[in-house]
Amino acid sequence: MSIIAYVGIGSNVGNAEGNVRRAIRALGEAGHVRRVSALRRTPPWGRAAQAPFVNAAVEIETLLSPRTLLETLQRIERRLGRRTSYRWGPRVIDLDILLYGAMRVDEPGLVIPHPRLFERSFVLEPLSEVGASMRGSRQPPA
Ligand code: AMP
Repeated sequence: MSIIAYVGIGSNVGNAEGNVRRAIRALGEAGHVRRVSALRRTPPWGRAAQAPFVNAAVEIETLLSPRTLLETLQRIERRLGRRTSYRWGPRVIDLDILLYGAMRVDEPGLVIPHPRLFERSFVLEPLSEVGASMRGSRQPPA
């Protein structure tokens, strides 16, 4: 059964807007991209001495499990040139699972809804634009 998931995208290294657009195209590997928010330029968060971020959110219809979706996002991050850097540091591309249907996941290495979802307006604004609300993301009973 397919699930509607929301993926947050961010970049603040190199051509950040180009990186975000490449990531959106690559997300076709994870499922059917249904909606894409506007790209937003946001001030760096956490550590001030870095370039501003370009952020977006995407609504995707996927057959992948949460864990397989995460692995797919990590593969795309690596391919687009992400190097591991310190938390909240500069990054070529950052892909996060924001919501996965109405499912809650709390496992080592995977927490859904994403823990930063409610902390940062740059996540919530594009998310609301592509249509997600906690109510709207609820799946009908199987
Ligand atoms: P970050 O540096 O913010 O991209 O964090 C990457 C780490 O967050 C990865 O090791 C993931 O296992 C972990 N993680 C936990 N929950 C999520 C999620 N919902 N989406 C993406 N990464 C997650």
